[in-house]
Amino acid sequence: MASLNRKRKNRAILKAVLGIAALIILSVGAMLWRQYREEKAQKAAAALPEDSTFEIRFFDVGEADSALVECDGHYMLIDGGLPESSDFLYSYLETHSIRHLDYIVCSHAHIDHVGGLAGALKYASVGTAFAPVAEYDSRSFNSFLRYLNAQGGSITVPEPGDTVMLGSARVTFIGPVDKELAELNANNSSIILRIEYGATSFLFTGDAEIAEELSVIDSGQTLKSTLLKVGHHGSYTSSTTDFLNAVLPEYAVISAGKDNEHGHPHDVVLERLSEYCKKVYRTDLDGEIVCRSDGKKLSFETERNG
Ligand SMILES: [Zn+2]
Repeated sequence: MASLNRKRKNRAILKAVLGIAALIILSVGAMLWRQYREEKAQKAAAALPEDSTFEIRFFDVGEADSALVECDGHYMLIDGGLPESSDFLYSYLETHSIRHLDYIVCSHAHIDHVGGLAGALKYASVGTAFAPVAEYDSRSFNSFLRYLNAQGGSITVPEPGDTVMLGSARVTFIGPVDKELAELNANNSSIILRIEYGATSFLFTGDAEIAEELSVIDSGQTLKSTLLKVGHHGSYTSSTTDFLNAVLPEYAVISAGKDNEHGHPHDVVLERLSEYCKKVYRTDLDGEIVCRSDGKKLSFETERNG
């Protein structure tokens, strides 16, 4: 009997010792991982030129999308909002003497993304204009094309994995990966791209819906990003848990119109985002949102305060 008790006691002691050892290993592991990530971030930031700058300006263009990315004096305009934003973009570029855009990205052919691009092209020249299709039967897409052609430019349809540099930032085209999906629904033809600047990263998804989100997850490309420009104006058609698990965003930006008829952003998406993000910015509440990166961390400035 006594030996049985002793055996039980020894087993309990062994269990406790193993438990403590596992805890120590886990916490040392977590500490080393944090250290490794911090060192990696420092290295990535240190590799940037001394006077390097990076900024994304999410314009308040109502129920639409438009963002201007600047890095080291180079510019990329992602979407142009509705046709009524044409004049706004023209005068923004004129006021800031931005005469040349290295890139224009038309995420997809819908009017709330392509509509205002003509205004930008009236003022600024463009190096390369990316779109998921070279032609689309709509007035606003044809207007974009006309102004592009007038400059001697044409549309470049990027392939997944293509990369371009914007100053010190690297832009990688990730989607669309499934041409069939893209043909069935223009939202799922959205160009998905990831920008890396130092140790910080930014994912733009246009109006990609669940099917496109799943297809890019399946493609195995890196989606993890510091900031997610939330797909489809915060609609429940997008931002699935699977997708957010792949992106793990610390910050999110939603472009939506105040009191828009679709009820964007949807509550279910806001709730989901709040589980991942330190902060979710919204153009309908915050107005124009400016995000800056020093290569290690992000800082934000908004036109209005929530
Ligand atoms: Zn849209």
